[in-house]
Amino acid sequence: MLLFRLLLLLGIAFIGWRMYRMLRTRRLRGEASARLQTEDMVECAHCALRVPRSQAVAAEGRWFCCELHRRSAGHDAGPGDT
Ligand SMILES: [Zn+2]
Repeated sequence: MLLFRLLLLLGIAFIGWRMYRMLRTRRLRGEASARLQTEDMVECAHCALRVPRSQAVAAEGRWFCCELHRRSAGHDAGPGDT
């Protein structure tokens, strides 16, 4: 009888663990897709590559895909600026 109780307890624990994993995965997926939907894409003024706004570099109202392209487009402050 003790073995039966132990197996029952293990079964319940296993089901609970599976349900917890399932709910967690679903919630993470929901957050990821919501982030993708709300993320704005901007176009690089130098190479026209489209990048998420959070990863883009802004300068004088224009967007660039990276720091190098921002400098290449002639938006550097001048000599001495790194
Ligand atoms: Zn670029």
